[in-house]
Amino acid sequence: MTERYDVLVVGAGPAGLAAAQAAASHGVRVGLRDAQARAGGQVWRHDVLAGVPRLARRSIAAALAPAGVEWLAQTRVLLAEAGDLLVEDPQRARRLEYAALVLATGARELLLPFPGWTLPGVTGAGGLQALAKQDWPLAGKRVVVAGSGPLLFAAAATARRHGARVLGIHEQAGREAVARFAVGLWRWPGKLAQAMALRAQLLGTGYHCGSLVRRALGAERVQAVEIEGQHGVQRLDCDLVAVGYGLVPDLRLAHMLGCASEAEGAHERISVDGAQRTSIAGVYAAGEVCGIGGRDCARVEGAMAGHAAAGAQARAAQLQGARRHARAFAAQLRRHFALRPEVRGLAEPDTVVCRCEDVPLCALDGYTDSRSAKLATRCGMGACQGRICGSVLAELGRFPRRGDRPPLFPARLSSLSGEAAANPRDA
Ligand SMILES: Cc1cc2nc3c(=O)[nH]c(=O)nc-3n(C[C@H](O)[C@H](O)[C@H](O)COP(=O)(O)OP(=O)(O)OC[C@H]3O[C@@H](n4cnc5c(N)ncnc54)[C@H](O)[C@@H]3O)c2cc1C
Repeated sequence: MTERYDVLVVGAGPAGLAAAQAAASHGVRVGLRDAQARAGGQVWRHDVLAGVPRLARRSIAAALAPAGVEWLAQTRVLLAEAGDLLVEDPQRARRLEYAALVLATGARELLLPFPGWTLPGVTGAGGLQALAKQDWPLAGKRVVVAGSGPLLFAAAATARRHGARVLGIHEQAGREAVARFAVGLWRWPGKLAQAMALRAQLLGTGYHCGSLVRRALGAERVQAVEIEGQHGVQRLDCDLVAVGYGLVPDLRLAHMLGCASEAEGAHERISVDGAQRTSIAGVYAAGEVCGIGGRDCARVEGAMAGHAAAGAQARAAQLQGARRHARAFAAQLRRHFALRPEVRGLAEPDTVVCRCEDVPLCALDGYTDSRSAKLATRCGMGACQGRICGSVLAELGRFPRRGDRPPLFPARLSSLSGEAAANPRDA
């Protein structure tokens, strides 16, 4: 079964929603698809207690209401080639053809290994937030939030709203760097307001700069953490630990299509021109996939990509100033929350790096590329297909992350066998 769109948008976070709305405003047929059950992406993930913020409600309604937009949730893109995608929903697989494609596939959290990070009760900061929003029981739990960047505040605030006792937020960046970041926030009043609102929700919760979770301790599950801060090493008893070191663009689909990328620190982002065009004709990209920039940047870039994909280049060009302003915020984030070298040295030789296949760091000594390491140790061959450990090893400076192999998600055999029949050369 094949459907055809003038503009097809993958990802219904802030970038994808803005792209769909902008494209539909030109009267073209727009398809919007997301693997999640609801539109909103990461930042506007539905919270069982609080729903989503007003801006999210407005953005979702504005993107899904126009007659020309066909929205389908729980639809995962498995395979991609020029002009069409193979997608799977809970019922069936189908092919989607497009004249223009907007990639708004967002980012993943960067997790870095430390002794004890695989104990039950240790999650990412964004991971804890997502679990809390889906009603994971947190009431009365003592939680330590740590890592780097503004996501720590958002995660801690959500945990508190769900009844957790947040014992403290431990930011690896030093106090001066964080202070310089805060002083510069007046240039982005929306961000300043967001930061102040979060701080107000976290009254009474300590925010400790230059502070690192060195080790999680416990037998069956985490019972305490060892934290190194300005006053030396301290042990803190807790029930849960949420540690995240920022975000990494999710380039899997873009790479499958052959879009060129460029370095962003130890990771990569999709290269785009002034109209959000990638190196592949007819393919646009917007939001975190073009480099970590946050919600407002994603919305501006999404609108630009949507206008441009619908052929309204002049409308897209009008937003270039807004994009520059939003990207300047992203540059501040990168500068002031840059990871200290100690963060990359927390894992010990026997610390597991590949959680799916239980591969310790020392097993990877001597390998200079991920393929030979994988063949010899199975690192990256488990359920997550290297999504976590690939980024870890790139960040630790071991070897760059290699492209993902199709399908992008675990898929039903029937979805893929239909694909083989449609493409006899692959059968
Ligand atoms: C775990 C996590 C929590 C976050 N929490 C916050 C927060 O509280 N506050 C904040 O300001 N920022 C938060 N962020 C940062 C957030 O990424 C951005 O600010 C914002 O959501 C970026 O918007 P986006 O549209 O670029 O991407 P996203 O919002 O990430 O949306 C991308 C969407 O693409 C979909 N997708 C990806 N690949 C496929 C595929 N192959 N097939 C189908 N669908 C696909 C995903 O399901 C996702 O819904 C969080 C990030 C993460 C990773």
